[in-house]
Amino acid sequence: MDSVSEMKMNSLKDLEHRAKACTNCGLRSGCRGVVFGEGNIDSPVMFVGEGPGQTEDELGRPFVGKAGQLLDKILLAAELPRETVYITNIVKCRPPGNRTPNTQEMQACLPWLRQQFALMRPRFMVLLGLAATHGILEPNLKMGQSHGQWFEKGNVLIMPTYHPAAILRNPALRKPAWEDFQKISQTVHE
Ligand code: SF4
Repeated sequence: MDSVSEMKMNSLKDLEHRAKACTNCGLRSGCRGVVFGEGNIDSPVMFVGEGPGQTEDELGRPFVGKAGQLLDKILLAAELPRETVYITNIVKCRPPGNRTPNTQEMQACLPWLRQQFALMRPRFMVLLGLAATHGILEPNLKMGQSHGQWFEKGNVLIMPTYHPAAILRNPALRKPAWEDFQKISQTVHE
């Protein structure tokens, strides 16, 4: 590992250490721990979901429950294997009963994501579901109209797509979601 990568890894470890002590919103008191994120810190693409669920809270890792297993399969099929990308959430603590995080909670947690982003500098960001889309892009965007489109923000291309949990609930979303992931793969590999 070169010295730049080592510095980046150490900075991320330090950030994770500080995030794990965060009590900036009420979600921390109802979960087991902060789920910071994981993956390839040099990846050109960062996936951002909504928040940890029960399995993620128990294991301290993002996207490891049923929705995460589906995400792994989609990523593999799209030639973006999980270990090659970075995965995190817009809120790092599990909302009670897996409810959607509210605006205040997302705002309280965003500085952690911003710092992750600043250290990793991915060229692409994929927003999994409406919570991440509303928190990062615009609060009024509808998934039906915005999924599969690249939005340019600074030097970053950001695409909203369906959360794998939504695909599990509604199999009709499989086709449009798969088309989005094919588009993501194509752009990342260009
Ligand atoms: S959800 Fe984010 S802001 Fe809230 S306590 Fe957890 S780490 Fe801190």
